[in-house]
Amino acid sequence: MYKRVILKISGEALKGDGTYGIHPITVKNIATEIKEIYELGVQIGIVVGAGNLWRGKTGEELGMDRAQADYMGMLGTIMNGLALQDALETLEVPTRVMTVLPVSAVAEPYIRRKAMRHFEKGRVLIFSGGTGSPFFSTDTAAALRAAELNADIILMAKNGIEGVYDKDPKKFSDAKMYHHITQLEVLKQKLEVMDQTAASMCGENKIDILVFNMNKAGNMKKAVLQENIGTLVK
Ligand code: UDP
Repeated sequence: MYKRVILKISGEALKGDGTYGIHPITVKNIATEIKEIYELGVQIGIVVGAGNLWRGKTGEELGMDRAQADYMGMLGTIMNGLALQDALETLEVPTRVMTVLPVSAVAEPYIRRKAMRHFEKGRVLIFSGGTGSPFFSTDTAAALRAAELNADIILMAKNGIEGVYDKDPKKFSDAKMYHHITQLEVLKQKLEVMDQTAASMCGENKIDILVFNMNKAGNMKKAVLQENIGTLVK
């Protein structure tokens, strides 16, 4: 079993069947899965995205200043983090939301050594605010947190996608899923595991990534127990 994991949940995962926003029942279902792995005793740091609320790129395409739009995206990750915290605490899972963008009324500032202490005390950490810098993504935030907190792996939870394919499975019926693949292959073939900045950071720092489908009940537990699901990028 992994001892410490960074779980990357994209904002899209929180919107349920809606086109955008936060769907509390969906968030609760995700929290139930997280509770299962929490009960195994694994230390969990969650990095949450905000694609369900806002993406900086969309703002830029509509004429906004990119950095300003990106800060809005980072604020979105804090909203999602609070929604996840609410759902987890309803299930009696102790949590802390930490943020690199100071919003002291609702979340603790991110301090590495403090995060370590929370892990030791058995708290699930929700890392919001991304990297705190525009032009980055929450995938890169996941890579950063995994590197500095010495996590065993990044669990990239996908919505309805089983793993990494050689081509888009939605477009090509003969697309093949990899069970194992190297970081180098991911970079060379530009496979869609995470964005390029995040992928190269994982490659350089030898951070393993497991891409798996979070929409199947029990998959998160299987991922933590290192059962054969998804694609392991090593
Ligand atoms: N963002 C940012 N810097 C970061 C992380 C996120 O500027 O370090 C902004 C960016 O605008 C991005 C948005 O927050 O579009 C939401 O993050 P992301 O796209 O990674 O969310 P996900 O796709 O995982 O839901």
